Amino acid sequence: MQPFHYTNPLVEMPDGTLKMSNPLTGRTAWWVPGRSGRPLRKEDLLSQQDEKLSEPEAYCAFCAQRLLETPPEIDRRVKDGAGYRTYHHLMPRQLPETRHTFRRMANLFEIVTLEYWQRNYDYRGLGRQREWAEAYKRDPAGREHLVQLVRRKLERVRGQQPEEVARLSERELLDEADAFFLGCHQLIVGARHYKPGAVTGGAHNLMGAGSLSPDEHFEYTRFTADTIRDIYDCNRYVRYVVVFQNWLRPAGASFDHLHKQVVGLDDWGTSLAREVLASRSDPNFYNALVVNFASYNNLVMAENEHAVMFADYGHRNPTVAIYCKARQLRPFELPPEALGGMSDLILAAHAAQGPEISCNEEWYYQPRDCLEKIPFHVLLKWRVSNPAGFEGGTRIFINPMRPTDVRDELVPALFRLRSEGKIASSIRIAEECPVEPNSLLYNR
Ligand SMILES: [Zn+2]
Repeated sequence: MQPFHYTNPLVEMPDGTLKMSNPLTGRTAWWVPGRSGRPLRKEDLLSQQDEKLSEPEAYCAFCAQRLLETPPEIDRRVKDGAGYRTYHHLMPRQLPETRHTFRRMANLFEIVTLEYWQRNYDYRGLGRQREWAEAYKRDPAGREHLVQLVRRKLERVRGQQPEEVARLSERELLDEADAFFLGCHQLIVGARHYKPGAVTGGAHNLMGAGSLSPDEHFEYTRFTADTIRDIYDCNRYVRYVVVFQNWLRPAGASFDHLHKQVVGLDDWGTSLAREVLASRSDPNFYNALVVNFASYNNLVMAENEHAVMFADYGHRNPTVAIYCKARQLRPFELPPEALGGMSDLILAAHAAQGPEISCNEEWYYQPRDCLEKIPFHVLLKWRVSNPAGFEGGTRIFINPMRPTDVRDELVPALFRLRSEGKIASSIRIAEECPVEPNSLLYNR
């Protein structure tokens, strides 16, 4: 298989058209002069600025005032001195006892359902999960929580009529609630909807990933990595746990409230399967054709001891890539300092782009049953272009920004954020980056 379409992944034509081919996916994208300059920061998202804010927050089902509108909390992270404490398997009465910084629960709207695992694999979960489910169902407040939530799920997700749902017995409703305890599609949800101190609404005041402190963002990243490991531990039929964060509605988010989704799959997904093929074709692929190439083309925007960030090419949307240099391949196997280095650069990218840009954050790493070495990397894809007939007919995507445009958009912001102390001082920016060739140690 030819891993990419053009001999050079970046080809500039005499008229300025830039043809890009992504070496990992084979995807082709063009930047065409005269079609750039589309507004990055969507005015329609900024138009809710008049909304008056109030505390405590109750804007959506993920807000701190509405904890019973989401499934039972599998665990929560609570700030405790300089560190964080984890509370497991919470009961309703425990929810107001501590103030969470992040919480984890099943997704009410599962993509891959518990029934899928039960019917196809006879999956039953672990004893500790079933014991928590039983205790929750025995608790009067717990039972009431589950019954209300299952009714909502059946009406909203399955489209059942209210009278049909009303006919179900409590036992039947509680059986449906098993997905909240044993399901493998989970959410990590942040505490705040808007930034602390914000007075009015609007996308610029939302609490995006880039508005967290480096310390909070590290806990968010570590909580997500721990969740991957936990889903593997709970369900031995899971081959890969996919992680993504949809930010704002154009990126597919139901709520403008920061959250990550973590989903166990019995599949690698097409994107990662293609990467595995690329990695098999050359054990040094991710250095030679990805990070070294980005560096030779001056696309590296930031670097620290453990990770490197650059403007990526050959995507349908402007994309920022962050690669981990560590030998360890899976997020939950990384030493804390390496995971922290990744977290610092992911945070820096979000902070530099700002909360007004809708984007998807996607994690890639070596699946459980994969022998090829895949370094942990994260892509941030800005959702600023809508594919139309041209893309559908040709599979050539028109990207509104060149990688150099993304770099030039973010680098000044990175310098400003570092001088303001909002991102880690250990981050080197643009020409300060050492960009040593073959800096990824994944294949050593
Ligand atoms: Zn909210």
